[in-house]
Amino acid sequence: MYNITVIPGDGIGIEVSNATLYVLKSLNIDFKFTEASAGHKCFQDTGTTIPQETIELSRNADATLFGAVTTVPGQKSAIITLRKELDLFANIRPIKSYEDLSSLYDNVDMVIIRENTEGLYSGIEEYNEEGATAVRVITRRACKRISKFALDYSRKNNRKKVTAVHKANVLKKTDGIFKETFYKVAKEYPDIEVEDRYVDAMAMFMITKPQEFDVIVTTNLFGDILSDEGSGLVGGLGLAPSANIGESNALFEPVHGSAPDIAGRNISNPLAMLLSSVMMLDYLGESHEARRLENVIIDLLKESKILTPDLGGSNSTMEIASEIKKKLE
Ligand code: ATP
Repeated sequence: MYNITVIPGDGIGIEVSNATLYVLKSLNIDFKFTEASAGHKCFQDTGTTIPQETIELSRNADATLFGAVTTVPGQKSAIITLRKELDLFANIRPIKSYEDLSSLYDNVDMVIIRENTEGLYSGIEEYNEEGATAVRVITRRACKRISKFALDYSRKNNRKKVTAVHKANVLKKTDGIFKETFYKVAKEYPDIEVEDRYVDAMAMFMITKPQEFDVIVTTNLFGDILSDEGSGLVGGLGLAPSANIGESNALFEPVHGSAPDIAGRNISNPLAMLLSSVMMLDYLGESHEARRLENVIIDLLKESKILTPDLGGSNSTMEIASEIKKKLE
């Protein structure tokens, strides 16, 4: 039996979590789901966006499923806190196009692996007389760990090439270390082709020739921006899943946020969270059930009959979940 901590959060996080649990309960796997709170509503109820109890429930679970939270300026970000507390250093964001779904490209299949713990998101930012500064922290340890993770991931998932993305011509020291460490680690992976690109050029190539990329590894902010760009290439935020992986914990979440503009109307697309749960099943070693669920989702998209409004359909969140459950059975 797997112990899964579920953090629905706020807004559409709650709707897509409900839909996902409804589907997961129909798989041939024994799960124990424990709900934990975090986010803005949690702050209003308890005075904190992420109670210690939630952190411990995630730490002790086999995996965590995270919906989405509303982060109010000035409040501690629940997801960034969790990533730090559990040292979830690798953020995996697959960018994959689905047949027959109208998107910019129909033959894209890349994975962005983003360093999750440092870079410009170090949280070290201060005002001074002139304005303010933010500190971009890059350590050799984190560069080595994320490079190794990306290369191991490629090997394990039969991927052929890893592209390191940086801006070492301008950020000579910080990205100099990132690039140098990547190539050093890559020497131990002669079976994987490696290359590097400047982030600005990469932003363009992802639009002009996305088929050329396989696995991309990069620092925190660049990874955040490129992965949203990537999701726009292939069907948008409603279809973008992600995983946050550490040495002993893992958390799976849709890339989208709590989307207050559509929350409560039962029209949010649950597929990003369902695809995140496919990544969770793979992480747990349940690849048979992972493929079964993934194939049903691919089928649903191919048929293009039952879809939420963001994909041009008129069905509700729970109608998608019911259809998937029916197909699984
Ligand atoms: P947050 O501030 O919590 O990050 P947000 O609404 O600012 O949330 P996103 O959730 O990233 O940002 O989404 C931007 C917009 O994309 C949403 O306002 C919504 O209209 C649309 N969107 C995002 N996710 C979905 C989804 N699962 N289904 C349908 N539309 C979505």
